[in-house]
Amino acid sequence: RAKKVGIGQTVVFNDAMICSLRERVSMLSSLKQDLDRHRLYLVYQPQIHLQSGQLIGVEALIRWVDESGQMISPVVFIELAEQSGLIVKLGEWVLRRALYDCAELCRVHPGFRVGVNVSPLQFQQADFVAQVKAALAEQGLEGQHLDLEITESVSMSYAEETVEKFNALRELGITISIDDFGTGFSSLSYLEKLHADCLKIDRSFVDKLTTSASGYRIAQTILTLGQRLNMRVLAEGIETDAQLNELLKLNCDAGQGYLIARPMKLDALNEWIQVYTEQQTLNV
Ligand code: C2E
Ligand code: MG
Ligand code: MG
Ligand code: MG
Repeated sequence: RAKKVGIGQTVVFNDAMICSLRERVSMLSSLKQDLDRHRLYLVYQPQIHLQSGQLIGVEALIRWVDESGQMISPVVFIELAEQSGLIVKLGEWVLRRALYDCAELCRVHPGFRVGVNVSPLQFQQADFVAQVKAALAEQGLEGQHLDLEITESVSMSYAEETVEKFNALRELGITISIDDFGTGFSSLSYLEKLHADCLKIDRSFVDKLTTSASGYRIAQTILTLGQRLNMRVLAEGIETDAQLNELLKLNCDAGQGYLIARPMKLDALNEWIQVYTEQQTLNV
């Protein structure tokens, strides 16, 4: 992780840092190239309404397999893209691609909705709302088909601008989810002003839900908060039946995780939806 260095401070590089700096520079340049060559792709993870089991949408997640065939985690390259500014272009590509795929799925499933992760720098662009509007128009989609996932840390900074942007996005019919909720530092009065639609409980709390008392209490607190502030709550990273049952008891609205489905390429998603919705109708 690069440290921000103030004026007059000295940075001492050790061997490990130089090596990692070199690696980062070369990784960034292959990332740029692969973005231009359309070698990045998206996978989609289903999100369901927990009580009914109904499919409510999917989250788009970016994937990069570099030229040597190595899969690089988005946690690594998104941060690199964020620091270098490449995220603005990359984020726009993700948005357009996700909406293109969403439009295709809408031909079969008319109410289909896709969630797209938005990075801090991307969200802070002055023309961000215009960019989103244009991407929707390009596919002839209404805002109702799009959910934007913004991390807690981003939504809590730049107060005035953020509230304005959230309002403008909501006017387009777009919903907003606060991603990784519970890992940042929310101001509760500010959270209320944002009128986000959904809080996503960070996976780390879902992980501990059934194994530690504090994990349980945190999840419970986030759920109460969401209910009081009129927001839906989605639990991410559900991996076990025990977690699912606990979330059902706690009245959690929605969830996603390996237990329900892994992120998939568009074709696999199409098939998954087919099978899943058939099962759903049989169960009702
Ligand atoms: P996130 O937005 O919180 O996404 C959830 C992550 O949890 C994804 O990791 C997903 O594959 C993983 N996950 C889902 N269910 C489970 C589960 O049951 N167990 C476990 N262990 N993991 C689960 P992924 O795809 O590696 O993405 C990591 C992070 O990278 C994302 O966290 C997001 O912050 C960022 N990211 C991914 N795609 C994009 C993108 O297109 N744009 C931006 N700006 N960030 C992205
Ligand atoms: Mg997300
Ligand atoms: Mg998340
Ligand atoms: Mg997360």
